[in-house]
Amino acid sequence: MAVRASRMVSGLSSVARLNWGLVGGGEGSQIGPVHRMAARLDGEFSLAAGALDACPESSRAFALRLGIAEERAYGDWQDMLAAESARDGDDRLDLVTVATPNATHYPITRGFLEAGFNVLCEKPLTMTSDEAADIIAIARAHGRICAVNFGYSGYPLVREMRAMVRQGQLGRVRLVVVEFSHGHHAAGDDPDNPRIRWRYDPRQVGNSAQFADCGSHALHLASFVTGRQVERLSADFASCVPGRELEDDAMVAFRMQDGIVGRLWTSAVAVGRQHGLTLQVSGERGGLRWQQEQANQLYWCPVGGRVTVIERGEAGLSADAERASRIAVGHVEGMPLAFANVYADLALAIRSQACAGAEQEGSGGSPDDALLYPIAEDGFRTVAATEAAVRSAKRHGAWEDVPTVPDPI
Ligand code: NAD
Repeated sequence: MAVRASRMVSGLSSVARLNWGLVGGGEGSQIGPVHRMAARLDGEFSLAAGALDACPESSRAFALRLGIAEERAYGDWQDMLAAESARDGDDRLDLVTVATPNATHYPITRGFLEAGFNVLCEKPLTMTSDEAADIIAIARAHGRICAVNFGYSGYPLVREMRAMVRQGQLGRVRLVVVEFSHGHHAAGDDPDNPRIRWRYDPRQVGNSAQFADCGSHALHLASFVTGRQVERLSADFASCVPGRELEDDAMVAFRMQDGIVGRLWTSAVAVGRQHGLTLQVSGERGGLRWQQEQANQLYWCPVGGRVTVIERGEAGLSADAERASRIAVGHVEGMPLAFANVYADLALAIRSQACAGAEQEGSGGSPDDALLYPIAEDGFRTVAATEAAVRSAKRHGAWEDVPTVPDPI
């Protein structure tokens, strides 16, 4: 039974909260606070268990401060997995979020999926496409949801862009231009800063830094909005700060299904840029432009016409944008609310799963087309594109094919 994908905040409040577990996202982490705000925004998830920090003492202490019961405040994720696997019924975790550094995503996600938990994993899903394929197969085999936190797809006006493309308002899409550039890793002593160092260490992030970290978001949005996948690409990687093994700047040309031309620039050394995630889609009949730093406005221009501003929350938006929009027009909604839309969709999917029985969904996909949370297949595509970009950069920009998601076994 598929639950209708309307925002049912009040409707769901009469239903028991879902039990939520968090791995990583400890005190002082970048993304942990956003997950804690987002998961609890609608009163859907209650933080029931956690292994929050690489240091066991800090992990337990922070969990207690967040109100997690002592017996569910773990020192490490292996203990959490063992103890939580033994719980069932109302106590059982409905969702585990993995918000640790990249190299740990695969073993943690795999472990929880195999034990029968639904997982929301931070991006990148894994370090290699083989691992990502493995995760897809495990999610399918266990009938569990494996979502990937490309959380920017939760912004209402990004969903509006997707809806406008699907409704044909742009005509055939010709061109997608995406950027995700900031200047926060540009200092000469950054290679010695432990908060930044791991992001450029191949043992901790794999064979790509900036492209995997930020470029993957931009590439995911290009596919999310157009509904088309990247087929091949050509990449130029640069390491601008001395001492870095991996790239801190990348320029990538790509081609998508249906001949869509793509351009992507991502940088960590673009001093003066703050969080420069932008997305432009141009078609035969018109073009759309959106930037994350002004996420409540979307610019639309029909061919030969004038630019108009579409405001988040105004009347007449698509059902997808309306459902993702929470407060009145003219008030600013931001990143935690975008992530909250991923959690809201997941809550509906998990409740639907509980109605339908685990086996029905199987693939880790959404039981309802209207639910737009990114899944392991999206994670696979961006990891495969990252590998193709690394190969291409090593071959001075030679065009490389991006493999498609493996068929179910
Ligand atoms: P961070 O270094 O700020 O924090 C990482 C946290 O994980 C710390 O609390 C650390 O103690 C904890 N940790 C490390 N190893 C652990 C382990 N084995 N068990 C439990 N906890 C462990 O990193 P961050 O910037 O928060 O990034 C974490 C992940 O989130 C990365 O994969 C990153 O790519 C992703 N991220 C995603 C977004 C997004 O927009 N979706 C934004 C930022 C970061």
